[in-house]
Amino acid sequence: MVFERKIAWENEPPINDAISPYDLFRIPGRGTYNFIILSRQLHGCKLHYFKGRSIPHTEGGCEACENKNETRWRGYLAVCNASNFKQGILELTAVPAAQIAEKIKLNEPIRGKIATLHRPSGKPNGRIQLDLRPGKIPDKELPEPFNVIATLKKIWNVQDHMRTPHVLDIGVRSTTIEKLTGGNNGSRKS
Ligand SMILES: [Zn+2]
Repeated sequence: MVFERKIAWENEPPINDAISPYDLFRIPGRGTYNFIILSRQLHGCKLHYFKGRSIPHTEGGCEACENKNETRWRGYLAVCNASNFKQGILELTAVPAAQIAEKIKLNEPIRGKIATLHRPSGKPNGRIQLDLRPGKIPDKELPEPFNVIATLKKIWNVQDHMRTPHVLDIGVRSTTIEKLTGGNNGSRKS
């Protein structure tokens, strides 16, 4: 009698083994970068820089908080690099994120707009200057935005059994970012 050895087929790879096809775009100290915004809304959360990497703050028990590590708020958009059309997630500090949130609050579509970003100081942790201008590609010809939150969870290696990071939907709770940017510009100038 021959026993068939069973294979455990799954419909998706375990989250640890899945490499995100999308990069996280952080604005370096030097250069000016143009992106076409694909998202219709902004997502953001508090981050820690802890044990040599960026990790999301998690509610109700956070190892970084327990170690008195400070948080910084970051906003995220699905974008397309305007020079090579590579899609990815653009990371924004609180001030440029507030500019985006303001447009959303005024029902001004951000999707399709060209975002030009640079750091006037030329330093990697300098303030980010964001300029928005209308794009030339009509909405229906742009790729649909991919799932930013799911992609960030992969990048941060947040597994399902872990606490989900507290991700704000700015389209709904725009007052939070106003609170965050009032009196504190969110990016430290050196
Ligand atoms: Zn924390």
